Amino acid sequence: MVKTWSTPVRAEDRGMVLCNNCGSEIFKSALDCGGFMYVRCVSCGLAQMNPQPAGSEVIKRYSQLFGKDYLSYELENEAAYLKLQQLALVDSKFSELEKNLFSQAEVNAPPNVLDVGCATGALLSFLRDRGWRVTGVEISPCAEYARNERNLDVRNLPLKENNFPQDSFDVILASHLIEHLNDPRSFLVESHRILRSGGRVFITTPNISGFQARLTGSGWRSAIFDHLYLFSARTLTKLLESAGFTIERIDTWGGLAAGLAPSWLKKIADFLVKRLGCGDVMIVRAVKTGN
Ligand SMILES: [Zn+2]
Repeated sequence: MVKTWSTPVRAEDRGMVLCNNCGSEIFKSALDCGGFMYVRCVSCGLAQMNPQPAGSEVIKRYSQLFGKDYLSYELENEAAYLKLQQLALVDSKFSELEKNLFSQAEVNAPPNVLDVGCATGALLSFLRDRGWRVTGVEISPCAEYARNERNLDVRNLPLKENNFPQDSFDVILASHLIEHLNDPRSFLVESHRILRSGGRVFITTPNISGFQARLTGSGWRSAIFDHLYLFSARTLTKLLESAGFTIERIDTWGGLAAGLAPSWLKKIADFLVKRLGCGDVMIVRAVKTGN
């Protein structure tokens, strides 16, 4: 089975971290992936790679080491990823929100969206065509492609370093980003700060409580070195709530990986996990309430 793009860093460039959600230092082992491992916080249940590469190392990996190879990988998969992102937004009732925002907006100030980890900007380009004001954040060389080839406003710095003013955005999207970050909690706190009151965040990430993760254990296709955190609906909810968000809905999809089972069986599994909320990937939609 194909795991996504990933290569480990040297063991000496990794260090032990406290639980990103609750600060605890007491863990039990969760997944031993041979060369790296995930532990689970005893008090809040968050699964995290430990030890894990330092923040500076992670940023260096995406911004420099991955280089042109990473851009080719994204370009090759761009159409497929866009389709998946669109399907996830359909599940999460994005178009109803979009309709509301456009009906309330002034003609010369349509709603605005920030896509963090926007890669080559395919989704931003799609949303711009629908009338949104769009901004992206992307630390890899994909940013340059999005700017030059798509004429998008894509910032080549980690989210916080952009110093966006508070109350800037109606919507923040982050697809397959949060599991790559050293400090997902501070990412959510910053997202909360720059969203308007009533603004929404849509977080898409692999679901460690899903059927596939339970079936495949440490062989799970999302248990890769670039994923520093593996969330369940429960642990991501806790993290979002502690950053000041209220959960609006959680949708999951993906029953069996393609190639792992005959297509008739995959169809049944896909249908069932969606109904039961134990799909392989989830999209969590949350709202900034209060200030
Ligand atoms: Zn914890």
